[in-house]
Amino acid sequence: MVQRVYDVCVIGAGASGGVLAGALAQAGVEVALVEGGPYRDPARLANHAWPYSRAAPQTPSVGVDAQLEPIEMHGDPIGILRARVLGGRTTHWNAVSLRFAEADFRERSWNGIEDDWPISYGELEPYYDRAERLMVVCGTRENLEALPDGQFIPPLKPRCSERILGRACQKLGLRMIPVRKALATEAGHGRAACHYCGHCMQGCEVSAIFNTAEHVLPAARKTGRLRLFSNSMARQLLLGKDGRVRSASLIHRQTRREEEVRARVFVLCCGNVESPRLWLNSRLANSHDAVGRYLHGHVTHRTMGWLSELLSSPPANQDGATDHVYIPRFRRGPHRDYAGGFGYQLNFLSYAVPHQAKHLPGYGAAFKRRVRELQPGFSMLGGFGKVVAHRDNRVTVHPRRRDAYGIPIPVVHFRWQANDLSLFRDMVATGREIYEAAGVQLLVSDDARPAGFASHEVGAMRMGVDPQNSVVNRFCQAHEVKNVFVTDGSCFTTMPEKNPTLTIVALALRTADTIVALSRRGEL
Ligand SMILES: Cc1cc2nc3c(=O)[nH]c(=O)nc-3n(C[C@H](O)[C@H](O)[C@H](O)COP(=O)(O)OP(=O)(O)OC[C@H]3O[C@@H](n4cnc5c(N)ncnc54)[C@H](O)[C@@H]3O)c2cc1C
Ligand code: SF4
Repeated sequence: MVQRVYDVCVIGAGASGGVLAGALAQAGVEVALVEGGPYRDPARLANHAWPYSRAAPQTPSVGVDAQLEPIEMHGDPIGILRARVLGGRTTHWNAVSLRFAEADFRERSWNGIEDDWPISYGELEPYYDRAERLMVVCGTRENLEALPDGQFIPPLKPRCSERILGRACQKLGLRMIPVRKALATEAGHGRAACHYCGHCMQGCEVSAIFNTAEHVLPAARKTGRLRLFSNSMARQLLLGKDGRVRSASLIHRQTRREEEVRARVFVLCCGNVESPRLWLNSRLANSHDAVGRYLHGHVTHRTMGWLSELLSSPPANQDGATDHVYIPRFRRGPHRDYAGGFGYQLNFLSYAVPHQAKHLPGYGAAFKRRVRELQPGFSMLGGFGKVVAHRDNRVTVHPRRRDAYGIPIPVVHFRWQANDLSLFRDMVATGREIYEAAGVQLLVSDDARPAGFASHEVGAMRMGVDPQNSVVNRFCQAHEVKNVFVTDGSCFTTMPEKNPTLTIVALALRTADTIVALSRRGEL
């Protein structure tokens, strides 16, 4: 039997692969979409049941199976969260969707650190527009240089604690704006409107938040041009005699059945750790040892404050769509001893949990009274700061250890740089200043060490003009294997303090256009 050859094989169906495969299928391309996880119906989640009334304990979210798969970590402690489900991490993300600014693509030219991207904000702008329309992003136009405006539906409204913290920001000369999120604040966008239950990061039961498995792939499959290979891990990419990738070898996670998928073009969308892992396990060309290097993400920190103004007020339902407001990057004072900046997301921790309880002394009736008094005042600031892309921070594969499918496991090597630590200290101090200006009865801030990366890891197959220190060119096409593209966050040259996914989706849409154009010209 003659084996079918697809136009394009997309590997990974998360934010980048789901969007890319959808755009290609809609443009008339025959696509094979390979996804390591199964489809999980969000309507079957039990977020609204009390934990003690559920028949079986629910895993924290719909897509964390990959956490059970081995990974080795070296250096400073950071978390790497890999999803294994159709839709990838969009099945349980928080959907904050921020455009990078012009300066964010020009770190070398404007700030003297890292490297410039080989593309500009202007080149990505039309794709940001398309990404926002596809994802349905709420927000407001604010005319901020550091955070370009986009195509928004009406915003989320601030809650009490956010208004109080907003006034504190004003005193300090900081802006607080409605958050920008890929979340339907109103009906009429082809999906249910949000009902403010606060479970976004366990998976949205009504899919009010953007999720490629629910909002892109069903329409793509209706074209008849998208064939889905779910629950199937791509083990290796196999080269043909012409030096181009000819097929992907797959292993089914349940049946362990092996098969090959042939295509003219391959796109890696496996996420920032898994894409370099697949490349390295395939032993594809890596002449300059660039694959896996420049791994970075966000340095993060949480401060929790119980606001004096709200203490002892009647208990009120403060649930919402996790965070409703955002404090964008700002520049204050000449005392900065670092490059880059940070922003704060607010109140994305659950109101259902009395976080204060474990930080209060005592026990018995008095202790319970104090826990209750404080509860209405709960609020939190989550700082997200820039991390410098450094060559020694990298993903490799283990020479001996293999996972359950016989695939060599990934190894992550990471150390914070001096700039990251200076920025972290200022982020912690500014959080405290905001709370002092707001007035708090209890402040809890774990300042001991920075945390990373908040599942925002990027950079390990970076974009650039020089193959010595980059893996893909300005069109996300591999320098050394011309029929392979990479469009997940691993293709980022650098990252500012902004969340990565809107940019990942914009790049996926741009790459779909590139592949269609190159194919039409016979250049692929
Ligand atoms: C709790 C949480 C909150 C978040 N909040 C935000 C936020 O507010 N804003 C934001 O911008 N970002 C946020 N993120 C990050 C966001 O989810 C990711 O940036 C985004 O999903 C990355 O897209 P991706 O396509 O690169 O990877 P993923 O979405 O992870 O998709 C990768 C897919 O590839 C599959 N795969 C991997 N290897 C293979 C293989 N070898 N063969 C077959 N399939 C494979 C995986 O199963 C997975 O489905 C959050 C993430 C988490 C976990
Ligand atoms: S708050 Fe809104 S978007 Fe989040 S899980 Fe609930 S309904 Fe879905």
